[in-house]
Amino acid sequence: MKRFSFLTLWLGLCACAWAADPPVTYVRAGKLLDVRSGKMLTDQVIVIRGEKIERVAGSAQVQIPAGASALDLSRATVLPGLIDAHTHLFLTGEDNGRYDEQLLKESWQYRTIEAVVNAKRDLDAGFTTMRDVETEGAMYSDVDVRNAINRGLIPGPRLQVATRAISTTGGYPLEGYSPEVTVPSGAQIVDSPEEARKAVREQVKYGADLIKIYGTHKFHFTADGKMMSMPTFTLEEVLAIVNEAHSEGRKVACHAYGGAGLKNCLDGGVDSIEHGLDLDDAAVAEMVAKGIWLVPTLYVYEGSTRAEDDAASGGKVSRASLHEPSFRKALAAGVKIAFGTDVGPFPHGTQAVEFEYMTKFGMSPLAAIQCATTRAAELMGWSDQVGAIAPGTFADIIAVEGNPLEDIKQLEQVKFVMKGGQVVRNDLTK
Ligand SMILES: [Zn+2]
Repeated sequence: MKRFSFLTLWLGLCACAWAADPPVTYVRAGKLLDVRSGKMLTDQVIVIRGEKIERVAGSAQVQIPAGASALDLSRATVLPGLIDAHTHLFLTGEDNGRYDEQLLKESWQYRTIEAVVNAKRDLDAGFTTMRDVETEGAMYSDVDVRNAINRGLIPGPRLQVATRAISTTGGYPLEGYSPEVTVPSGAQIVDSPEEARKAVREQVKYGADLIKIYGTHKFHFTADGKMMSMPTFTLEEVLAIVNEAHSEGRKVACHAYGGAGLKNCLDGGVDSIEHGLDLDDAAVAEMVAKGIWLVPTLYVYEGSTRAEDDAASGGKVSRASLHEPSFRKALAAGVKIAFGTDVGPFPHGTQAVEFEYMTKFGMSPLAAIQCATTRAAELMGWSDQVGAIAPGTFADIIAVEGNPLEDIKQLEQVKFVMKGGQVVRNDLTK
Protein backbone atom coordinates (compact mmCIF):
# COMPACT_ATOMS: atom_id res chain seq x y z
CA MET A 1 0.00 0.00 0.00
CA LYS A 2 2.84 2.31 0.90
CA ARG A 3 4.52 1.58 -2.42
CA PHE A 4 1.26 2.33 -4.25
CA SER A 5 1.02 5.73 -2.51
CA PHE A 6 4.56 6.59 -3.47
CA LEU A 7 3.85 5.63 -7.08
CA THR A 8 0.74 7.78 -7.10
CA LEU A 9 2.72 10.73 -5.76
CA TRP A 10 5.43 10.17 -8.38
CA LEU A 11 2.90 9.99 -11.19
CA GLY A 12 1.30 13.15 -9.87
CA LEU A 13 4.64 14.99 -9.93
CA CYS A 14 5.31 13.81 -13.45
CA ALA A 15 1.89 14.96 -14.58
CA CYS A 16 2.66 18.41 -13.15
CA ALA A 17 5.98 18.50 -14.98
CA TRP A 18 4.31 17.48 -18.21
CA ALA A 19 1.57 20.03 -17.75
CA ALA A 20 4.08 22.89 -17.55
CA ASP A 21 3.93 24.76 -20.84
CA PRO A 22 7.07 24.59 -22.96
CA PRO A 23 8.59 28.02 -23.68
CA VAL A 24 7.27 30.01 -26.63
CA THR A 25 9.59 31.88 -28.99
CA TYR A 26 8.56 34.23 -31.79
CA VAL A 27 10.75 34.60 -34.87
CA ARG A 28 10.17 37.57 -37.18
CA ALA A 29 11.14 36.69 -40.77
CA GLY A 30 11.58 39.49 -43.33
CA LYS A 31 11.39 36.87 -46.05
CA LEU A 32 10.42 33.25 -45.54
CA LEU A 33 10.80 30.61 -48.24
CA ASP A 34 7.78 28.32 -48.02
CA VAL A 35 9.45 25.30 -49.63
CA ARG A 36 6.20 23.33 -49.80
CA SER A 37 4.41 25.91 -51.98
CA GLY A 38 7.57 27.31 -53.53
CA LYS A 39 6.51 30.85 -52.55
CA MET A 40 8.71 33.51 -51.00
CA LEU A 41 6.56 35.04 -48.25
CA THR A 42 7.30 38.40 -46.64
CA ASP A 43 6.90 39.79 -43.15
CA GLN A 44 6.09 36.53 -41.39
CA VAL A 45 6.12 35.44 -37.76
CA ILE A 46 7.01 31.88 -36.76
CA VAL A 47 5.57 30.82 -33.42
CA ILE A 48 7.67 28.10 -31.76
CA ARG A 49 6.49 26.15 -28.73
CA GLY A 50 9.25 24.04 -27.22
CA GLU A 51 11.02 22.27 -30.06
CA LYS A 52 8.19 22.42 -32.60
CA ILE A 53 6.66 25.05 -34.83
CA GLU A 54 3.13 25.89 -33.76
CA ARG A 55 2.11 28.53 -36.29
CA VAL A 56 3.38 30.56 -39.23
CA ALA A 57 1.47 33.70 -40.23
CA GLY A 58 1.80 37.26 -41.49
CA SER A 59 2.91 39.71 -38.81
CA ALA A 60 -0.49 41.42 -38.88
CA GLN A 61 -2.14 38.20 -37.71
CA VAL A 62 0.19 37.47 -34.77
CA GLN A 63 0.26 39.45 -31.55
CA ILE A 64 3.68 39.12 -29.93
CA PRO A 65 3.05 39.66 -26.22
CA ALA A 66 5.18 42.27 -24.42
CA GLY A 67 8.23 40.63 -22.83
CA ALA A 68 7.95 37.49 -24.97
CA SER A 69 11.05 35.75 -26.24
CA ALA A 70 11.48 37.06 -29.79
CA LEU A 71 14.16 36.87 -32.48
CA ASP A 72 14.34 39.55 -35.13
CA LEU A 73 15.31 38.11 -38.52
CA SER A 74 13.34 40.81 -40.33
CA ARG A 75 16.29 41.72 -42.58
CA ALA A 76 17.08 38.13 -43.50
CA THR A 77 15.70 35.31 -45.63
CA VAL A 78 14.53 32.43 -43.49
CA LEU A 79 14.43 28.81 -44.71
CA PRO A 80 13.99 25.37 -43.16
CA GLY A 81 17.18 23.75 -41.88
CA LEU A 82 18.97 21.99 -44.74
CA ILE A 83 19.15 18.21 -45.17
CA ASP A 84 22.20 16.41 -46.56
CA ALA A 85 21.11 12.88 -47.53
CA HIS A 86 24.63 11.55 -48.15
CA THR A 87 27.32 12.28 -45.58
CA HIS A 88 30.30 10.55 -43.95
CA LEU A 89 30.87 11.92 -40.46
CA PHE A 90 33.69 9.41 -39.95
CA LEU A 91 35.77 10.72 -42.83
CA THR A 92 37.80 13.84 -42.23
CA GLY A 93 39.41 14.31 -45.58
CA GLU A 94 41.16 17.62 -45.30
CA ASP A 95 44.08 15.92 -47.05
CA ASN A 96 43.37 13.50 -49.84
CA GLY A 97 44.53 9.94 -49.46
CA ARG A 98 44.08 9.68 -45.71
CA TYR A 99 41.58 6.84 -46.04
CA ASP A 100 44.01 3.97 -45.41
CA GLU A 101 45.65 5.84 -42.55
CA GLN A 102 42.31 6.45 -40.86
CA LEU A 103 41.43 2.75 -40.97
CA LEU A 104 44.90 1.46 -40.10
CA LYS A 105 46.18 3.95 -37.55
CA GLU A 106 43.23 5.61 -35.86
CA SER A 107 41.12 3.93 -33.21
CA TRP A 108 37.34 3.98 -33.44
CA GLN A 109 37.42 6.19 -30.35
CA TYR A 110 39.65 8.79 -32.02
CA ARG A 111 37.54 8.66 -35.17
CA THR A 112 34.40 9.17 -33.08
CA ILE A 113 35.92 12.31 -31.60
CA GLU A 114 36.52 13.52 -35.16
CA ALA A 115 32.92 12.64 -36.08
CA VAL A 116 31.63 14.71 -33.14
CA VAL A 117 33.63 17.70 -34.40
CA ASN A 118 32.40 17.11 -37.96
CA ALA A 119 28.77 16.95 -36.82
CA LYS A 120 29.09 20.39 -35.23
CA ARG A 121 30.69 21.84 -38.37
CA ASP A 122 27.82 20.52 -40.51
CA LEU A 123 25.23 21.86 -38.08
CA ASP A 124 26.88 25.29 -37.99
CA ALA A 125 26.73 25.35 -41.80
CA GLY A 126 22.94 24.98 -41.67
CA PHE A 127 22.54 21.20 -42.03
CA THR A 128 20.11 20.35 -39.26
CA THR A 129 19.35 16.85 -40.59
CA MET A 130 21.64 14.32 -42.26
CA ARG A 131 21.59 10.76 -43.53
CA ASP A 132 25.05 9.40 -42.70
CA VAL A 133 25.78 6.55 -45.06
CA GLU A 134 28.57 4.48 -43.56
CA THR A 135 31.26 4.80 -40.91
CA GLU A 136 34.06 3.55 -43.23
CA GLY A 137 35.44 0.97 -40.86
CA ALA A 138 34.41 2.58 -37.58
CA MET A 139 31.72 -0.09 -37.12
CA TYR A 140 28.67 1.10 -35.17
CA SER A 141 30.17 4.31 -33.81
CA ASP A 142 27.65 6.38 -35.80
CA VAL A 143 24.87 4.94 -33.64
CA ASP A 144 26.60 6.40 -30.58
CA VAL A 145 27.00 9.80 -32.23
CA ARG A 146 23.31 9.79 -33.23
CA ASN A 147 22.23 8.79 -29.74
CA ALA A 148 24.46 11.37 -28.04
CA ILE A 149 22.99 14.11 -30.25
CA ASN A 150 19.44 12.92 -29.57
CA ARG A 151 20.11 12.93 -25.81
CA GLY A 152 21.49 16.48 -25.96
CA LEU A 153 25.02 15.48 -24.90
CA ILE A 154 26.64 16.98 -28.01
CA PRO A 155 25.45 19.38 -30.72
CA GLY A 156 24.77 17.98 -34.18
CA PRO A 157 22.19 17.39 -36.88
CA ARG A 158 19.30 14.93 -36.53
CA LEU A 159 20.79 11.75 -37.94
CA GLN A 160 19.74 8.61 -39.71
CA VAL A 161 22.75 6.29 -39.76
CA ALA A 162 23.68 3.33 -41.95
CA THR A 163 26.42 1.82 -39.72
CA ARG A 164 28.87 -0.42 -41.64
CA ALA A 165 27.53 -0.64 -45.24
CA ILE A 166 27.72 -3.88 -47.21
CA SER A 167 29.80 -4.97 -50.21
CA THR A 168 31.38 -8.15 -51.62
CA THR A 169 34.87 -9.64 -51.54
CA GLY A 170 37.00 -7.37 -53.71
CA GLY A 171 34.26 -4.80 -53.64
CA TYR A 172 35.61 -2.23 -51.19
CA PRO A 173 38.86 -0.82 -49.70
CA LEU A 174 41.24 -1.45 -48.08
CA GLU A 175 42.89 -2.80 -51.19
CA GLY A 176 46.36 -3.34 -52.60
CA TYR A 177 47.85 -5.14 -49.59
CA SER A 178 49.65 -8.46 -49.70
CA PRO A 179 47.34 -11.52 -49.27
CA GLU A 180 49.20 -12.58 -46.11
CA VAL A 181 48.40 -9.27 -44.39
CA THR A 182 44.98 -8.97 -42.81
CA VAL A 183 43.67 -5.41 -43.13
CA PRO A 184 40.33 -3.92 -42.06
CA SER A 185 37.55 -3.33 -44.58
CA GLY A 186 35.60 -0.10 -44.93
CA ALA A 187 32.40 -2.13 -45.32
CA GLN A 188 30.93 -5.44 -44.14
CA ILE A 189 31.73 -8.09 -46.76
CA VAL A 190 29.18 -10.73 -47.84
CA ASP A 191 29.27 -13.30 -50.64
CA SER A 192 25.87 -14.99 -50.78
CA PRO A 193 22.21 -14.13 -50.27
CA GLU A 194 22.37 -15.81 -46.84
CA GLU A 195 25.35 -13.75 -45.71
CA ALA A 196 23.73 -10.62 -47.13
CA ARG A 197 20.53 -11.21 -45.18
CA LYS A 198 22.48 -11.89 -42.00
CA ALA A 199 24.49 -8.66 -42.41
CA VAL A 200 21.27 -6.64 -42.67
CA ARG A 201 19.95 -8.34 -39.52
CA GLU A 202 23.16 -7.58 -37.64
CA GLN A 203 23.24 -3.95 -38.70
CA VAL A 204 19.60 -3.41 -37.77
CA LYS A 205 20.21 -5.18 -34.44
CA TYR A 206 23.01 -2.74 -33.60
CA GLY A 207 21.11 0.39 -34.58
CA ALA A 208 21.10 1.00 -38.35
CA ASP A 209 18.31 3.32 -39.51
CA LEU A 210 18.97 2.40 -43.14
CA ILE A 211 21.14 -0.03 -45.09
CA LYS A 212 23.89 1.17 -47.42
CA ILE A 213 25.23 -1.11 -50.14
CA TYR A 214 27.88 -0.87 -52.84
CA GLY A 215 26.31 -2.02 -56.12
CA THR A 216 29.39 -1.17 -58.17
CA HIS A 217 32.99 -0.68 -57.15
CA LYS A 218 35.88 -1.07 -59.59
CA PHE A 219 35.83 0.85 -62.88
CA HIS A 220 38.14 1.70 -65.73
CA PHE A 221 38.10 3.87 -68.81
CA THR A 222 38.23 2.36 -72.30
CA ALA A 223 40.35 3.67 -75.18
CA ASP A 224 37.25 5.13 -76.84
CA GLY A 225 36.37 7.21 -73.77
CA LYS A 226 33.76 5.10 -71.98
CA MET A 227 33.66 4.15 -68.31
CA MET A 228 33.24 0.45 -67.50
CA SER A 229 31.80 -0.02 -64.03
CA MET A 230 32.07 -3.50 -62.48
CA PRO A 231 29.19 -5.06 -60.53
CA THR A 232 29.58 -6.34 -56.97
CA PHE A 233 26.39 -8.15 -55.86
CA THR A 234 24.38 -10.63 -57.88
CA LEU A 235 20.69 -9.86 -58.29
CA GLU A 236 19.92 -12.62 -55.76
CA GLU A 237 22.13 -10.93 -53.16
CA VAL A 238 20.49 -7.53 -53.74
CA LEU A 239 17.04 -9.11 -53.48
CA ALA A 240 17.98 -10.72 -50.15
CA ILE A 241 19.24 -7.38 -48.78
CA VAL A 242 16.25 -5.36 -49.97
CA ASN A 243 13.74 -7.96 -48.82
CA GLU A 244 15.29 -8.21 -45.35
CA ALA A 245 15.76 -4.44 -44.96
CA HIS A 246 12.20 -3.67 -46.05
CA SER A 247 10.76 -6.35 -43.81
CA GLU A 248 12.53 -4.55 -40.91
CA GLY A 249 11.24 -1.13 -42.06
CA ARG A 250 14.63 0.07 -43.35
CA LYS A 251 15.40 1.64 -46.72
CA VAL A 252 18.34 0.64 -48.90
CA ALA A 253 20.72 3.30 -50.24
CA CYS A 254 22.83 1.96 -53.08
CA HIS A 255 26.13 3.37 -54.29
CA ALA A 256 26.21 2.70 -58.05
CA TYR A 257 27.82 4.36 -61.07
CA GLY A 258 26.34 2.45 -64.04
CA GLY A 259 26.27 -0.83 -65.94
CA ALA A 260 25.26 -4.30 -64.75
CA GLY A 261 25.76 -3.55 -61.04
CA LEU A 262 23.42 -0.57 -61.25
CA LYS A 263 20.87 -2.72 -63.09
CA ASN A 264 21.01 -5.45 -60.42
CA CYS A 265 20.28 -2.82 -57.77
CA LEU A 266 17.39 -1.26 -59.72
CA ASP A 267 15.92 -4.68 -60.51
CA GLY A 268 16.40 -5.64 -56.86
CA GLY A 269 14.29 -2.66 -55.75
CA VAL A 270 16.69 -0.44 -53.79
CA ASP A 271 15.23 2.86 -52.56
CA SER A 272 17.93 5.27 -53.74
CA ILE A 273 20.87 5.32 -56.12
CA GLU A 274 23.78 7.27 -54.69
CA HIS A 275 25.96 9.09 -57.28
CA GLY A 276 24.35 7.45 -60.37
CA LEU A 277 26.91 9.22 -62.48
CA ASP A 278 26.57 7.06 -65.60
CA LEU A 279 22.82 6.47 -65.94
CA ASP A 280 21.65 5.20 -69.33
CA ASP A 281 18.13 5.73 -70.67
CA ALA A 282 16.93 2.32 -69.43
CA ALA A 283 18.17 3.03 -65.89
CA VAL A 284 16.47 6.43 -65.85
CA ALA A 285 13.21 4.88 -67.11
CA GLU A 286 13.36 2.18 -64.43
CA MET A 287 14.01 4.76 -61.70
CA VAL A 288 11.01 6.81 -62.82
CA ALA A 289 8.77 3.75 -63.09
CA LYS A 290 9.74 2.42 -59.64
CA GLY A 291 10.06 5.78 -57.87
CA ILE A 292 13.72 5.13 -57.04
CA TRP A 293 15.53 8.24 -55.78
CA LEU A 294 18.75 9.72 -57.12
CA VAL A 295 21.17 11.31 -54.64
CA PRO A 296 23.64 12.76 -57.14
CA THR A 297 26.63 14.13 -55.10
CA LEU A 298 27.97 16.25 -57.99
CA TYR A 299 30.66 18.39 -56.35
CA VAL A 300 32.73 15.53 -54.88
CA TYR A 301 33.69 14.34 -58.38
CA GLU A 302 35.10 17.71 -59.37
CA GLY A 303 38.56 18.86 -58.28
CA SER A 304 41.21 16.21 -57.66
CA THR A 305 38.94 13.33 -58.77
CA ARG A 306 38.38 14.95 -62.15
CA ALA A 307 42.13 15.49 -62.55
CA GLU A 308 42.91 11.84 -61.63
CA ASP A 309 40.32 10.54 -64.11
CA ASP A 310 41.57 12.85 -66.86
CA ALA A 311 45.06 11.49 -66.32
CA ALA A 312 43.79 7.88 -66.40
CA SER A 313 41.70 8.35 -69.56
CA GLY A 314 44.06 10.60 -71.47
CA GLY A 315 41.64 13.48 -71.02
CA LYS A 316 38.81 11.66 -72.82
CA VAL A 317 36.45 11.04 -69.93
CA SER A 318 36.07 11.47 -66.18
CA ARG A 319 33.44 10.65 -63.62
CA ALA A 320 32.68 14.38 -63.51
CA SER A 321 32.27 14.62 -67.30
CA LEU A 322 29.77 11.71 -67.24
CA HIS A 323 27.94 13.05 -64.21
CA GLU A 324 26.59 16.24 -65.74
CA PRO A 325 24.74 14.61 -68.69
CA SER A 326 23.59 11.80 -66.39
CA PHE A 327 22.15 14.32 -63.91
CA ARG A 328 20.52 16.37 -66.69
CA LYS A 329 18.92 13.22 -68.13
CA ALA A 330 17.49 12.20 -64.75
CA LEU A 331 16.24 15.74 -64.12
CA ALA A 332 14.52 15.96 -67.53
CA ALA A 333 12.88 12.55 -67.07
CA GLY A 334 11.46 13.44 -63.65
CA VAL A 335 13.56 11.11 -61.47
CA LYS A 336 13.03 11.96 -57.80
CA ILE A 337 16.19 13.78 -56.67
CA ALA A 338 17.35 14.43 -53.10
CA PHE A 339 20.28 16.63 -52.07
CA GLY A 340 23.36 14.73 -50.98
CA THR A 341 27.01 15.66 -51.05
CA ASP A 342 29.30 12.81 -49.91
CA VAL A 343 30.92 15.31 -47.53
CA GLY A 344 33.80 13.69 -45.62
CA PRO A 345 36.28 13.25 -48.48
CA PHE A 346 36.14 17.06 -48.51
CA PRO A 347 35.78 19.22 -45.39
CA HIS A 348 32.63 19.08 -43.30
CA GLY A 349 30.65 22.31 -43.22
CA THR A 350 31.50 23.21 -46.83
CA GLN A 351 28.99 20.99 -48.62
CA ALA A 352 26.48 23.72 -49.58
CA VAL A 353 28.72 24.23 -52.63
CA GLU A 354 26.69 21.32 -54.08
CA PHE A 355 23.84 23.78 -54.78
CA GLU A 356 26.06 25.62 -57.27
CA TYR A 357 26.56 22.44 -59.30
CA MET A 358 22.90 21.41 -59.20
CA THR A 359 21.87 24.80 -60.58
CA LYS A 360 24.77 24.95 -63.05
CA PHE A 361 23.59 21.58 -64.42
CA GLY A 362 20.04 22.75 -65.08
CA MET A 363 18.06 22.73 -61.86
CA SER A 364 16.29 25.89 -60.68
CA PRO A 365 17.47 27.36 -57.36
CA LEU A 366 14.03 26.66 -55.84
CA ALA A 367 14.09 23.02 -56.96
CA ALA A 368 17.64 22.59 -55.60
CA ILE A 369 16.54 23.99 -52.23
CA GLN A 370 13.51 21.70 -52.26
CA CYS A 371 15.89 18.74 -52.88
CA ALA A 372 17.61 19.72 -49.61
CA THR A 373 14.36 20.21 -47.68
CA THR A 374 11.01 18.68 -48.67
CA ARG A 375 12.47 16.08 -51.05
CA ALA A 376 15.26 14.83 -48.77
CA ALA A 377 12.74 14.68 -45.91
CA GLU A 378 10.51 12.52 -48.11
CA LEU A 379 13.41 10.17 -48.93
CA MET A 380 14.11 9.82 -45.20
CA GLY A 381 10.46 9.26 -44.31
CA TRP A 382 10.52 12.37 -42.10
CA SER A 383 8.25 14.73 -44.09
CA ASP A 384 6.07 15.40 -41.06
CA GLN A 385 9.09 16.33 -38.91
CA VAL A 386 11.71 18.20 -40.95
CA GLY A 387 12.26 19.95 -44.26
CA ALA A 388 9.61 22.68 -43.93
CA ILE A 389 8.69 25.61 -41.72
CA ALA A 390 5.16 24.50 -40.96
CA PRO A 391 3.00 23.71 -37.92
CA GLY A 392 4.05 20.41 -36.34
CA THR A 393 7.58 20.25 -37.73
CA PHE A 394 10.70 20.68 -35.60
CA ALA A 395 11.79 24.30 -35.32
CA ASP A 396 14.88 23.71 -37.48
CA ILE A 397 15.44 27.08 -39.11
CA ILE A 398 18.28 28.82 -40.93
CA ALA A 399 18.68 32.34 -42.27
CA VAL A 400 20.85 34.03 -44.87
CA GLU A 401 21.35 37.73 -45.60
CA GLY A 402 20.37 37.76 -49.28
CA ASN A 403 17.87 35.92 -51.45
CA PRO A 404 19.05 32.37 -52.31
CA LEU A 405 16.59 32.17 -55.22
CA GLU A 406 18.61 34.95 -56.86
CA ASP A 407 22.03 33.95 -55.50
CA ILE A 408 22.32 30.27 -54.56
CA LYS A 409 25.77 30.89 -53.01
CA GLN A 410 23.96 32.56 -50.11
CA LEU A 411 23.51 29.02 -48.77
CA GLU A 412 27.30 28.76 -48.41
CA GLN A 413 27.13 31.64 -45.92
CA VAL A 414 24.38 30.67 -43.52
CA LYS A 415 24.24 33.27 -40.74
CA PHE A 416 21.66 31.84 -38.37
CA VAL A 417 20.95 28.27 -37.32
CA MET A 418 18.25 27.02 -34.97
CA LYS A 419 17.63 23.35 -34.21
CA GLY A 420 14.59 22.21 -32.26
CA GLY A 421 13.86 25.75 -31.08
CA GLN A 422 17.39 26.29 -29.71
CA VAL A 423 19.63 28.87 -31.39
CA VAL A 424 22.86 27.18 -32.53
CA ARG A 425 24.43 30.35 -33.92
CA ASN A 426 23.36 33.86 -34.88
CA ASP A 427 25.79 35.98 -36.88
CA LEU A 428 23.21 38.23 -38.49
CA THR A 429 24.19 41.85 -38.31
CA LYS A 430 21.36 44.12 -37.37
ZN1 LIG B 1 29.58 8.26 -49.95
